[in-house]
Amino acid sequence: GGPTAPVVPAWADVDLDAVAANAALLRERAGGAALMAVVKAEGYGHGAVPAALAALEGGATWLGVAHLDEALALRAAGITAPVLAWVLVPGQDTTAAVAAGVDVSASAPWAVDALAGAARRTGRTARVHLKVDTGLSRGGATAHDWPDLVRAAAAAQAEGAVEVVGVWSHLASADDPAADALTHRQADRLEEALAVAAGLGVRPPLRHLANSAGVLAHPRTRLDLVRAGIAVYGVTPSPVRGSAADLGLVPAMALRARLSLVKEVGPGEGVSYGHQHVTAARTRLALVPLGYGDGVPRHASGTGPVLVGGRRHPVAGRVCMDQVVLDLGDDAAARAVRAGDVVELFGTGADGGPTAQDWADAAGTIGYEVVTRLGARVPRRYS
Ligand code: PLP
Repeated sequence: GGPTAPVVPAWADVDLDAVAANAALLRERAGGAALMAVVKAEGYGHGAVPAALAALEGGATWLGVAHLDEALALRAAGITAPVLAWVLVPGQDTTAAVAAGVDVSASAPWAVDALAGAARRTGRTARVHLKVDTGLSRGGATAHDWPDLVRAAAAAQAEGAVEVVGVWSHLASADDPAADALTHRQADRLEEALAVAAGLGVRPPLRHLANSAGVLAHPRTRLDLVRAGIAVYGVTPSPVRGSAADLGLVPAMALRARLSLVKEVGPGEGVSYGHQHVTAARTRLALVPLGYGDGVPRHASGTGPVLVGGRRHPVAGRVCMDQVVLDLGDDAAARAVRAGDVVELFGTGADGGPTAQDWADAAGTIGYEVVTRLGARVPRRYS
């Protein structure tokens, strides 16, 4: 926050130039493929609309979301770029999405029928991406069910109700160098599905398969369009392949707070619920006004790193709902720490501070979850 920003207990600084720069890097890595910036779940916690606008500025030409309502929120903000939404359930009303020109994924004939129905009601053509399951066993038609899906789409397309814009699939393990064979098998299966579709007269302009790890590690998966989420936000999709810095990505989010209390305690004092930390000697305790109610992972109790005055301290004892405690020690640096000082849970890493990936490691999770779960209670400050 700048000098005029109001004093608040905790906030997330979101660097939109970093989002734009990451998008530009991914666009370049995608070769001839177009870039879809995935902005579902509030832009992985960064704010969907600001992240979308920054990614578009950086060279993305598509946006991706899970839910139709997420796509409609982008349209309501005046974003006219193509948007693909991929979660749909039977009975869901697709009228507004079709009317707003949102592309929707179909994994089964009922989804094609629903979209064709919305097209007839709105007088528009529904834009559909047919999804094939190539090995994730999540969305998408199996190879067995694929011809039925393609035939349903071909019929609706012949009628003018739908336009098949894409055929697509999602990778299971592109982040894992030990699973390269699986990634190749998925690319093979997508090719097979495309051949089947072509045999049934469906030849969409866009084939897409890659996520962030696919773009960065598997040139073969880039095809016509790549769907990158986590790397757009500057978090590594694959810590084993490289850190954000190794990959040239800039973490866009920094989670910061002002200490709410600093106090001196003696040795042998139990700290936080359950007393899992006990002070070893006379020390300074500092309270950070962020907790699991804000999305700070409770699994990082005792381990999550916080940068205080240039030095990292692990959370002392359990992460509480609204606060964590730090045990600063009793040296000159600790004695200089004051209530109101700004501390950092994670940021770019460039200042020697922790990254979201460090918190993921501390909590036994992935960087995706650390940034995405950051609660609505934490104000985002954009720069
Ligand atoms: N495509 C689909 C279907 C997804 O669900 C996601 C997110 O999980 C992405 C692309 C983006 O993946 P990543 O954040 O690993 O780039």
